[in-house]
This record gives sequence, C-alpha cells and structure tokens, in this order.
Amino acid sequence: MTAKTYMVGNWKMNQTQAEIESFFSGLSLSNNQNNFWIAPQCLHISKCMDLGAKAGVLIGAQNCSEHEYGAFTGENSVDSLSEMGVHFTLVGHSERRTLFGETDETINKKVLKASQTGILPILCIGETLKEREAGKTLDIVLGQLKAGLKDLKIQNESEVIIAYEPVWAIGTGKTASPEQAGEVHNAIREVLSELYGDFGQDISILYGGSVKPNNVEDLLAQPNINGGLVGGASLKAESFNALCSAC
Ligand code: PEP
Repeated sequence: MTAKTYMVGNWKMNQTQAEIESFFSGLSLSNNQNNFWIAPQCLHISKCMDLGAKAGVLIGAQNCSEHEYGAFTGENSVDSLSEMGVHFTLVGHSERRTLFGETDETINKKVLKASQTGILPILCIGETLKEREAGKTLDIVLGQLKAGLKDLKIQNESEVIIAYEPVWAIGTGKTASPEQAGEVHNAIREVLSELYGDFGQDISILYGGSVKPNNVEDLLAQPNINGGLVGGASLKAESFNALCSAC
C-alpha cells in the first residue's frame, strides 16, 4: 500500500493579509513533495497562490458550488476556482453540513463537479457525538462515504481524497484516540477497495479533529491514516511546520 501522506490546513474564515504574509514567511518545510496544502478563504486564494508557489504549498478552496454558473449569489464556481489555479477543494466539511444544510446529495454533486473540472475533491465525512454514542459511527460515516462518491469514476488513486473528521472532535480540543480513528479509517479503506479495486488501497484518507503537533505522530502511526486535515493548528507557521515534519 502506498497512499501518499498529506497535511492540509483548513483556515476557515480566519487570517488577515498580514497574518498570511507572516505565515508564509515563517514556513520551513522539510521533505516537501507537494503534499502540504492550505485552503484559505476564497478572497485570499490569489495571494496564497503567489506566496504558496514560492514555499511549495498547493492552494485549494474550502467549498465550491455544485452549479456551473448563474444566479447563485455568494457562491464560487469550479470553473472560476480552476481558472485561479486551485489544486483541490474541500467538500462536505461538517460546518457546511450543519451550518449551511448541505446534504449528501448536494455534496455528491460538488464532488462530481469538482472532479470533472480537474479539481481534486477532498470529501469530508464524520459522525456527531450523539451518533457515536448510539453506536452508529460506521453506519453514518460509510453512508456519507458511499453517497458522496456515488458515480465518481477515477483513473488513478490521486483523483480523490477522503477526510474522516468526527464532528465532536472538530475545534473542540478533543481528538479521537489513534485507535478510535484507526478503526474508522480501516473501515473506510475496505469500502474504497470495494468501490475502486486496487486504486482504493492507495487513496489517501486524512484524519481531522483537533490534530496538533503533540498528537499527530500517534495518529499517523495508524496504518490507514494518511495525513491530517487541520483547522486551528494550521494557522501559525510554527505549528504547521511541526505538523508537516511529522509526515
Ligand atoms: C477542521 O476544520 O477540519 C478541523 C479539523 O479543525 P480543528 O483542527 O481546529 O479541529
């Protein structure tokens, strides 16, 4: 199995122009093989593309529209994102699902739209605390996985990435234990293999949810955890450097 390891920062609605400059000037990424990525606010993509190119950091979006173009005020089309040169887009982040009412159906349309446009979708899936406590974790996560990937055809393993993010661990300081996360990642791997055969063995599965420099190594030691999707700890160069050096 040779799934590539990625460290992806989700900056959410954070970072001023000055903070972005300070972030990029503080980066020192060893072992960089184009696998350290940042998703800033859309307004900042252009600036980050310039600064990221010098640092060897690829830039993506946090979301995209499922529509091609038209009267969708406030949305960003995949064509426009592609014209800007973005490499990837997050799709179905739990904040999009809970705060903006995104359904598995919409998320699937976004995955397909991004992929057709040559933008790599990072499909985010994860259970709430209530669902975990009710013993429904795998049903929920694997259901979201299959629904999000419906009709997605890939020609190789690097055309899609999955991010498992337990909702109860995002921005809360509570991380899933490596064993809890590892168990879900193993189940995701099985489904990816059923869906995509050999490619499924090598699709990267990221873990997200309060990943920090002090817990990243234990998480990455799990065989099917192939990197992190990181919010808070990706905002400062110092901690992003530390996360990347664990890859
Ligand atoms: C996220 O935004 O996807 C995330 C995992 O955030 P945090 O690392 O802050 O929990």
